[in-house]
Amino acid sequence: MAFAQGDLKVSGLVRFSEMLGVEHAVELLQRVIEGDRLPHGILLTGPSGVGKGTFARALAATLLCETSDREACGTCSSCTRVASRSHPDLLVVRRVSKKIRDRAPMSDNDEGEAEKDLSNFIRIFQIREMTDHIGFAAKEGGRRVFLVDPADRMNTEAQNALLRTLEEPPGDAVILLVASRAHMLLPTVRSRCFALRFGPMRPAELADALQARGMNLDEAQARASLSRGRPGLALSLDLKRLETRRGEILGVLEALTASPRAIAEWPGLVGTVHDKDDAVFQEGLDLFEELLRDATRAAAGAPTDHLLDARLAGRLEAVGHRLGTARGAELIRSIEKLRGQLSFNVNKTLLTEALLASVAGAPVP
Ligand SMILES: [Zn+2]
Repeated sequence: MAFAQGDLKVSGLVRFSEMLGVEHAVELLQRVIEGDRLPHGILLTGPSGVGKGTFARALAATLLCETSDREACGTCSSCTRVASRSHPDLLVVRRVSKKIRDRAPMSDNDEGEAEKDLSNFIRIFQIREMTDHIGFAAKEGGRRVFLVDPADRMNTEAQNALLRTLEEPPGDAVILLVASRAHMLLPTVRSRCFALRFGPMRPAELADALQARGMNLDEAQARASLSRGRPGLALSLDLKRLETRRGEILGVLEALTASPRAIAEWPGLVGTVHDKDDAVFQEGLDLFEELLRDATRAAAGAPTDHLLDARLAGRLEAVGHRLGTARGAELIRSIEKLRGQLSFNVNKTLLTEALLASVAGAPVP
């Protein structure tokens, strides 16, 4: 496949020039590297699916590359080993199996553990092990790169342990922290890092970029739209499944705004958004929210190329008109609130029911 994968789990090496929407970050970094002001801590933030993890790996490869300081060459012995995950000076800290209590392998290999079997946090013993390694000289005589992904899963103890290293960074070590939720990091950790922010692209712009790489127009537009402009996600998402699900959720919005009686069909409607699996539920909420946003935009007369999917413009506009701008905005706020409650032990089915009821005309929860 000619496209870069956005998933950290995929082995191989994606170079800066193969990534979409990262020109600004690359330029910023190159200026810092050329000015010999390479920071010891670099924090890569932005929503999930924008390609931070892939970028961090490309950056690690660049920092270790034997032939270029601007962009990993992809062919030298160092780049080859970063790609095959066997470089001795690239150490990766990630969430490990719940079964591991006191020692984690410091290798770059992905154990392939399922999400549910992973510890919720990166723990202090892992960071201690990492900081022990930082004290050693590079095996290859160049830099050493430490990659913590996801860094926002470090518990407070682990972050405090890391803080000491960030305060007195030894020699040629560079620590890369990848975080979707930067607010979960201690302000002291954040302030000691050079921040690189990644954001989504405009869907139309992403679709153009995908097309420029040989993807056909329909697929490029669909992927750009369903990923909400996130290049990493655009390349990895399951197009058919997500398109079907979005269509179903739009159907729910249509039914509820057309007639409050649709509530009688609740179990089916709730099941369209809700799912026992947290990631699938989140995705349902994301789709629900993006459709609501676009419905209110369409009703307000926004040009169709400002919508995530121009093909849905007519249906969205109808929903938006029935809902009204004020109510649409209120519902979007209530989804944000609902997201905040998800980390607690709440009944997600009840929350979903309340949300759908409010679309049908009941007070917004
Ligand atoms: Zn190289």
